[in-house]
Amino acid sequence: MRRYSRAQIRNTAKELITTYHLQVPIDLELLVRELGGDIRDTNGTDEPEGYVKLIREDPSRKFEIGINRSLPPKRQRFTLAHEIGHYILHLKEPDPDYIIEGGEIREKPLFRAGWEQIELEAHEFAGELLMPYEEFNKQLKEDPEKPIEERLKVVAERFNVSKPAARVRAQWLGLYPWKNDLLS
Ligand SMILES: [Zn+2]
Repeated sequence: MRRYSRAQIRNTAKELITTYHLQVPIDLELLVRELGGDIRDTNGTDEPEGYVKLIREDPSRKFEIGINRSLPPKRQRFTLAHEIGHYILHLKEPDPDYIIEGGEIREKPLFRAGWEQIELEAHEFAGELLMPYEEFNKQLKEDPEKPIEERLKVVAERFNVSKPAARVRAQWLGLYPWKNDLLS
């Protein structure tokens, strides 16, 4: 199975942003269209949170992403970024040693609790795509006199992500402590 380094994942997301002239907040629907994909709405608690599959029978469509619309909008947005990650990293040019059966990846109901390699990669890709490193880093360091919680709130709004998602991103980038004594 192909394994991507963190740098490779960051660069892959960056390349997409540059190629399609995307700006924060990243327009994921536009990106899916540019890549030749479609988004299908699903609903209901027995449906997966999201899925992505290759379309082989229709040359005008390359892939389809399903998003469960019964979940909160920011969670849907993160899921969409995650599914784009699966398409780019795991389906578009599949590794011959690791063919994904049927060209389709369906999320388990609580996929974020799973730590399989492709899930980690898609998750990391989603963070890089929604909160591009340089810009996130720069914006979070604006107004350093303001408390970090306030800055996180502002940055989360600018990037159109949930505050917990922005916090986790800040933690991974070393901009926020893993253990916050104020919250414990
Ligand atoms: Zn996944």
